[in-house]
Amino acid sequence: MASLKVLIAASEVVGFAKTGGLADVAGSLPRALAARGHQVAVVMPYYRGVRHLKDPPVNTGVVIPVPVGNRTLACRLFRSTLPKSEVPIFFVEAPDYFDRDDAREGKGLYQQTMPGGYKADYPDNAERFTFFSRAVLEAIPALGFVPDIVHANDWQTGLVPVYLAEVYRSRPGYGQMRSVYTIHNIAYQGNFGADVMGLTGLPGWLFNSTQLEFHGRLNFLKAGVVFADAVNTVSPTYSREITTYEYGCGMEGLLQQVQGKLSGIVNGVDYGVWDPAVDPHIPANYDAGTVFEQKPKSKAELLTRFNLPVEMDKPVLGVVARLVVQKGIDLILSAAPGFLDLGCKLIFLGEGDPEYHNELEQFQRRHPDKVGLYLGFDETLAHLIEAGSDLFLMPSRYEPSGLNQLYSLKYGTPPVVRATGGLADTIVNADEENLAAKTGTGFAFNDYTAGALYDTVKWATTLYRDRPEDFRQVVRTAMRQDWSWGRSAGEYEALYRRILG
Ligand code: ADP
Repeated sequence: MASLKVLIAASEVVGFAKTGGLADVAGSLPRALAARGHQVAVVMPYYRGVRHLKDPPVNTGVVIPVPVGNRTLACRLFRSTLPKSEVPIFFVEAPDYFDRDDAREGKGLYQQTMPGGYKADYPDNAERFTFFSRAVLEAIPALGFVPDIVHANDWQTGLVPVYLAEVYRSRPGYGQMRSVYTIHNIAYQGNFGADVMGLTGLPGWLFNSTQLEFHGRLNFLKAGVVFADAVNTVSPTYSREITTYEYGCGMEGLLQQVQGKLSGIVNGVDYGVWDPAVDPHIPANYDAGTVFEQKPKSKAELLTRFNLPVEMDKPVLGVVARLVVQKGIDLILSAAPGFLDLGCKLIFLGEGDPEYHNELEQFQRRHPDKVGLYLGFDETLAHLIEAGSDLFLMPSRYEPSGLNQLYSLKYGTPPVVRATGGLADTIVNADEENLAAKTGTGFAFNDYTAGALYDTVKWATTLYRDRPEDFRQVVRTAMRQDWSWGRSAGEYEALYRRILG
C-alpha cells in the first residue's frame, strides 16, 4: 500500500518539552509511523526550553506569515529531528508567546506559579495557541512534502481542523488534506471568552452552539471535535466513557452526536526504556524465561531501599502515580489497613496533592516496617518498583490510556486495576475462567469502592500464596503482551486510511 504523509501538531513533544502523556505520544507515534515507511513531520512551538537545549534546533531560513487578530507576524521556522530518529520536527518562533518558560521562575508551558504558591494559566493562552494552530497550516509549504493527514492534539491545537476546513482547504495544495483530532484528557478543554473569536480571524457565524460556541464561550476542544474528519481518544473504552455524563466533562452530548467518527487507540510503550531484559536501573535483568529466578533480586533491593525487612514470602504492592484524585489514592488509603492485615507490604512513589502527602506520611509512620514511601519524582525508583513489586495498584477513577499498567505487564508484576478507560482495554482479569483459559494478565474490578479494591487484592494474594502455579501463569501471560508503539501506529495508520477513503 502507498505510504502516507502525516503532519503531527502538538504543544509538547518528549525530548523538547513535556508536561504529560501528550508529549510521549507526539514523540513516539511519529517514529513508529516512520518505521512503517510513512513520511512524517512534527510541528511544535519554539519554547524557551527548546532554545536553550544542549543541541538546539537550527534556523531553516524560512519565514512564515501568521495572521493573529489584526496583525500578521513574520515567524522563523527552526528544525531538528526526534531523538534517535530522522523524523523532522519544526519549531515556530514567536518570542512574545513562547520565550517565557523557566523552571527557576516557576514558569511552565501553560501555567505560572503565583506569589501565593498556586498555579495559574497564562492570561494569553487563547492567543498563544490560536496563533500556533494557524502557524501549523502556514508551515506546511516549508515541510518539503504535502501531508495527506494533519493530526492535531488536545485543546492547544483544537483550531487546526477549523482553519483547515474553513480557511485553507480552498487554497492550492490544501484541498485533499484530512484532519485527525486526538483527545488525551477531556478535562482540559481550552474554554475561553467569546472575545477570542476576534483573534482567530474566523468568520463570526461559526460562533454558534453546533460549531465553536460552548455555553457562550469559545471552546477549542469542541472546535477540534466538530471540524476534524476523525476524532479519537487514547483507548476504546475511554472513547465510549466520554459520551456519558459521568466522564464527559460537559462534552458528552456533542460526543454522542459525532460517535460515527469517534474511536479509541491505546498508547504504546517505549520498550527501549521499559523492559526488564535491558533495564539498567534494576539489579538483575530478566525476561519471561528467567523472571522467577531474577525478579526476587529486585524485590530484595526494593525492600532494602525502603528500610523494610526483607521477607520474601510477603507480597509487595507497588504504587507509582501522580497523587491526584484521578488515580484513586483515596481508595488505596481506605483499603490499605486491610492490605496490611493480609500480610502485604506497601510501597508508594508519587507526588501531588498535599492532603495525600499528609495522609500517606501518617500511614507510613504508623507502620514503618510494612510501608515504604517516597514523596517526589524519581524515574530510577519507578523502574525498581515495577520490577520489585509482586502486584501493582492502579485503581483509577478514570484513565484515558495509562502507562504504568503496561509497564507492570512487561515487568511480570500483575496490575490490580479498576476496569476503566485504557485499564479496561489492556488488562484481562484473572478470574477462574480466565485462569483456566490461561488468558489472565492482572486483576480488575468495576465499582469505584475501597471494598472492591480490597476484595480484588485479597483474591490476587490468595493466588500468590496458595496457588503459586496459577499466579506464575498470570505473570508469564502478562509478560508476553505486546503494547509497543508499532501496534498503536498500525491502528493510527488504519484510521488515517479510513478517512482518506
Ligand atoms: P499519567 O500520565 O496520568 O500520570 P500514566 O500511567 O499514563 O499516568 O503515566 C505515568 C508516568 O509517569 C509513568 O511513566 C510513571 O512511571 C511516571 N511517574 C508518575 N509519578 C512518578 C513519580 N513520582 N516518580 C517517577 N515517575 C513517575
